[in-house]
Amino acid sequence: MKWILFFGALIGSGISGREKCFGDQVFRINVRNGDEISKISQLVNSNNFKLSFWKSPSTFGHPVDVLVPSVSLQPVRAFLKSQLLEYSVTIEDLQALLDNEEKERQHNEGQERNSNNFNYGAYHSLEAIYHEMDSIAQDFSGLVSRVKIGHSFENRSMYVLKFSTGRGSQRPAIWLNAGIHSREWISQATAIWTARKIVTDYGKDPAITSILEKMDIFLLPVANPDGYVYTQTQDRLWRKSRSLNPGSSCIGTDLNRNWNVSFAGKGASDDPCSEAYHGTHANSEVEVKSVVDFIQKHRNFKCFIDLHSYSQLLMYPYGYTFNKAPDTKELDEVARRAAKALASLSGTEYRVGPISTTIYPASGSSTDWAYDNGIKYAFAFELRDTRHYGFLLPANQIIPTAEETWLGMKTIMEHVRDHLY
Ligand SMILES: [Zn+2]
Repeated sequence: MKWILFFGALIGSGISGREKCFGDQVFRINVRNGDEISKISQLVNSNNFKLSFWKSPSTFGHPVDVLVPSVSLQPVRAFLKSQLLEYSVTIEDLQALLDNEEKERQHNEGQERNSNNFNYGAYHSLEAIYHEMDSIAQDFSGLVSRVKIGHSFENRSMYVLKFSTGRGSQRPAIWLNAGIHSREWISQATAIWTARKIVTDYGKDPAITSILEKMDIFLLPVANPDGYVYTQTQDRLWRKSRSLNPGSSCIGTDLNRNWNVSFAGKGASDDPCSEAYHGTHANSEVEVKSVVDFIQKHRNFKCFIDLHSYSQLLMYPYGYTFNKAPDTKELDEVARRAAKALASLSGTEYRVGPISTTIYPASGSSTDWAYDNGIKYAFAFELRDTRHYGFLLPANQIIPTAEETWLGMKTIMEHVRDHLY
């Protein structure tokens, strides 16, 4: 999967077209006990097979998803067999899924050009998302403004939409974050849908109306613009930022390990080639620093929600420790109600719990940073799905996903509204 990049780097020229993954597959490995976790850890720590873990091992009972490049299929199958690890193939033909998604996206772009209409049921370029943010801000100028909070490593603007009905610059506020991991396209798509939902429902839906009477909402749909562009031009499965790492040919930092909270602790890597690389120091990534600076300058955030995919989880701090957060009881109760509201639309089931035990230990994450910096209502969603498509959720699931997620987010925001501190 990596040869085109390697070749591109060798000849030092631009690369046209995205990387191809012919024959690559995604395996789901069952994890029945602690012994099997250590066997799978051998795979995680082996560089020989060039594996990419879509879902890393955590505790037993939770399966592991791994992308296996075609050249490694035979040896990985042999390893799994020799270790008596049970597995199934969840994506037989990764390239076919990628081709199909790209075809659909291009087709939609053509249609949008002709109709001049943003299709919320499609995946978009960064440019199209920014353009739509601008349109929303223009059409609802009394309620929304587009604010530039900084720029990315490759100098792309970072925009948030600010929804506000009140005067004063420091009303209590909610931060909605998406796309920190660039390949999790359903998160950026859900975020931009949510922007339209807020302006459409304000004044009609008593819940969002009353939330906005008391609080401002800031929405950052693309927290990792460079990574997002890279997923559309080079490598659909890129997760990190695109910053250079001195002394390494590997690119990028995991933006969700770079926050100044238990930096470089559990669940983060000091290897620049790892997908969980924490960076040289906390806030080393300008994308993280821009959000941190904005939030600290504003000083009155009460709620922080980060959207990711996939696995259908709704989580709260902590990720960096197995110790319970002081507000665990309340956060758990709110998250359970939110998951119930989410499921009420079409039965989509979410698991609820602290980050460390619900997905895996992770230090330096946005949600923990928010919580430890006085933003009590800090949550992270892992959106659809749980198995079939992973990061490649088909576009026809965007609107159903966004609609149900909205019910969950609204439940959280209503709780915040009623429990301002
Ligand atoms: Zn993520």
